[in-house]
Amino acid sequence: MNQQLGSYVKFFHIIRELEDSNQIDIKQKQILKVNFTTKEKKLMNILNDLNDEDEEEIKFSLLNYLNESPQEKQQIQRQMKRTRSSITDVDLIKGIQYDELKFTDALAEMEKALKLITHFQAKIKDGQTIDPKVNEILEHINTLFIQNSPQNIHSPTIIGRGQSLNLDINYQIESELSEAYKEVKCQFANYMKSHLLLMDETVSYNTIFSLLKELSKNLLNCDNFSFFVINPNNEMELYQSKTDNIEQLPIDQTIKDELETIPQNKIFRFSQNSSFCSKLMSINYLSSYGLYANNVVFIYHSKQNKQLETQDILKIANEYQLIDEIKTLSMFLLQTIQNAKVQFFSPLSIADMILDLGISFVRASKFVLIEKMYNIISQVYKIDKLQTDQQEIQVWDTESVYIVFKDQTVTVCFRIYQMNLVKQSDQRLYSEIKQFYEKYLRFIRECFDKSAFYKFFLRSNDSLIFEFDKSGHLLFLSRPIPKQIKSNFNIQFNSHLIHSNQLSYNKIFDQNVVSNIENYLQDHKWQMMKDNEKQYEIFLKIEEKTYKGFAVIFTENIKGWVKEQFKQLESGNQLDSKIKAKIRKQLIQHETINFVNKLEENNPEVKDSVASLYMPLQQLILKKSKSIRDIQNTQNEPKMRKTEAPQRSKYLTIQELDLNEFSLDIQDDLIDTFDFNIMELTSQIQKHRVVWAILKKNGHLDEYQIPPENLQSFIKEMEYNYNVNNNPYHNYDHGVTVMQTAYYFCLELAFTSNASIIDNFNRFILMISSFGHDVGHTGKTNVFEINSLSDLAMRYHDKSVLEQHHAALTIQILKNPQSNILVNLNQQEFRNFRKGLIANILSTDMSEHFTLLKDFENRPKDFNDCKILSGYIMHTSDFGGAGKKTNLSIQWSSRVNQEFSIQYKLEGELGYPQQPYMKDLHIPHVLAKSEIGFLKVIVRPCYALLSEFLEDKLKHCIANIDDTIQHWEKIVKKGEEQQQ
Ligand SMILES: [Zn+2]
Repeated sequence: MNQQLGSYVKFFHIIRELEDSNQIDIKQKQILKVNFTTKEKKLMNILNDLNDEDEEEIKFSLLNYLNESPQEKQQIQRQMKRTRSSITDVDLIKGIQYDELKFTDALAEMEKALKLITHFQAKIKDGQTIDPKVNEILEHINTLFIQNSPQNIHSPTIIGRGQSLNLDINYQIESELSEAYKEVKCQFANYMKSHLLLMDETVSYNTIFSLLKELSKNLLNCDNFSFFVINPNNEMELYQSKTDNIEQLPIDQTIKDELETIPQNKIFRFSQNSSFCSKLMSINYLSSYGLYANNVVFIYHSKQNKQLETQDILKIANEYQLIDEIKTLSMFLLQTIQNAKVQFFSPLSIADMILDLGISFVRASKFVLIEKMYNIISQVYKIDKLQTDQQEIQVWDTESVYIVFKDQTVTVCFRIYQMNLVKQSDQRLYSEIKQFYEKYLRFIRECFDKSAFYKFFLRSNDSLIFEFDKSGHLLFLSRPIPKQIKSNFNIQFNSHLIHSNQLSYNKIFDQNVVSNIENYLQDHKWQMMKDNEKQYEIFLKIEEKTYKGFAVIFTENIKGWVKEQFKQLESGNQLDSKIKAKIRKQLIQHETINFVNKLEENNPEVKDSVASLYMPLQQLILKKSKSIRDIQNTQNEPKMRKTEAPQRSKYLTIQELDLNEFSLDIQDDLIDTFDFNIMELTSQIQKHRVVWAILKKNGHLDEYQIPPENLQSFIKEMEYNYNVNNNPYHNYDHGVTVMQTAYYFCLELAFTSNASIIDNFNRFILMISSFGHDVGHTGKTNVFEINSLSDLAMRYHDKSVLEQHHAALTIQILKNPQSNILVNLNQQEFRNFRKGLIANILSTDMSEHFTLLKDFENRPKDFNDCKILSGYIMHTSDFGGAGKKTNLSIQWSSRVNQEFSIQYKLEGELGYPQQPYMKDLHIPHVLAKSEIGFLKVIVRPCYALLSEFLEDKLKHCIANIDDTIQHWEKIVKKGEEQQQ
């Protein structure tokens, strides 16, 4: 026993041993735990000198203590006797004269002693020698039992190590059941620990890869996995975890034939001569299971012995309807690998997903336990496994015992023949089986609670939480340890030690913290540690009055409100919705900033790429104001720049537009697709037509009785203000494209289960907001506006300058009687429209990008927030050009880069700080690098998240983006080759 372990750790170690050796049962263990946690006086006296006393003495005292506790007295006395009958005591039975009554007593006594013997016997390892005296006694008991035992129905034989012994087989079964219970629990509780791998300071693709392998090992018990993604164009993508490689293969006839025969959404076993297996790197596993779903053939390979596999999730998945769980895990593995190879990934969001997956497998794992129990019991009893939809089994007969395991999806029933509940040993076995199952259900519930709790902290950036189990091993860490805390408290953490079980609190923390923890566990005395305004606290985890471990929380934010919430959660209180909303807002803010800092830290190239445009502006401005001061010292004051004020357009002078001439026809079908390309339209009228057609198709023209002549003026006024500055990118084409993209996303949304989140009115707002989102754009960025002290920057106090301007200008045009398309809305409706429009347009502020992304990513399960969704659709639509097919995407990029180059030149002339990502964009590989950063870090994650929300309907856009990334990568490579 480690002297340094706190009294808690030691206490729980001892009572676990007592339980393992069957000296106390679950109920008694519970009493001890509760009394210990609540510091019951007598118990505390016993444990006072716990650290110095001999462990065996403590065990004995604990049993005595239980004996004295009145409500348990009778039961305990029996237990005590059993405990006292150590092996040598069995000798006493020898020589007792035959007396029927005494004999029964003696047998009962012996029964208990045998339980101990069986237990020890099970622990004897191969090659370990047994004391000859023990052997002698075993022999003796053996003969005694054979001579005197009543006619036994099962007459079981236990094959011990090297010797045979007849005794009550039920003890053996019980001990096997207990082993099975622990095994399943251990295997499936492990997923919780796998997230620790993500908590190292630097997480690379390799970390993710080994994490996924670990996860598939824990949950599916497989050593390697392979995926065939079947594409419609007679090609397939093959991924193999063995080589960690994705390759393209043609689909040949043998594959086609085999696909025909494979059942969908079912687990099946691959034969060695399958055409799929023949495509794999020489894999020679004992078993390979497959699942064909969502056009992917997943194969899981296992090296394990066939005899063991009967209790795998994969093996029992069909029987217990666990296909959905396996499908979700499979898709997660596939997508995480695909994504991690091409885009920046957030370890925290992966950790979050692992929690969700793990919890669904923990729920499924109870069937593994049932299956194991079935196998154990069937060694001795004849047993049938029945599946039933009925909650109660109707037919009961006297020859069998039925045990029902209820579940929402599949209810299983064991029919055990020749089990007789009148017999004490059968009765005991019966209740043990039920108890193990009940206990496992409790474990599942605990996992659910824990997972919710963990998720809460994964999203917290105020606090860093280490959670330890009863024996002091690390269970959970909420995020990578910030450098400051690491050095302040001299913390050692290396995630790779999880496998060797070396992540215990006394290895992670230095002596100061360790002794603080131990003092606290000992007697709850705690002195606040303060160091550079950072501090930590220790919490006991107590559930249902029993000690479950402890947590150490380091707080960076002195307000410590998260810590308060921790206390709330710990005491089982529900949080009210206002506090929840506040927590959420703060968490997302912190998470965003943290995410961005990490992003810049791990991807230094981001700083110089256009992706930096999407960083929270606060940071940029701080840096900028500094550089402006520098400039002021050496150069003239920056000149006040007058922003070109939009002028009143002269209606109808640009080009005649008569909406009454329009009617929907076949060419307008293209508007319903993502392939729509405004650059193909040759006249302005055709572009106006798109705006009109979208409103028409959505039914808004009729629903809101929009007068055609007002719409006419509105469209023309918008066009004028878009094009007044001759911007290469932020012009009418862009406005219409973003509107069309938002319209397309809404079409896809309508076919998902979330369709109702955006109603007609809000869709109307979304259409007009996306149309007007850049109107009056100056062709410069917000940073330029701010640095040049422009009129707009002055008017909007540097906050979302351009976006506020676009929103204000759109509303101004809408309020003009001639171009007001909202004339038939009542006042309240107009107010709502305006409010929605402002929120939508402000969400296109690029410096809000990460906040928006995080907010959407962390949406609750029952998400129903029209504002957040509209904002996210607006923002993603703003990348409409970048998501198009490569050729077209390049054209949009060329337009925006022209605009950047103009600004860069102007900044140079005016002596403003120049944006590094705008530099040298005429050099192909410089431009290409910037584009890659932008697409990988900003655009792709944005689309990926929306696609996931739209039930994978934007996969084609993501494929476009991937193609485009590859295009730019080729250019970078070419450039590098030329430089050499
Ligand atoms: Zn835009």
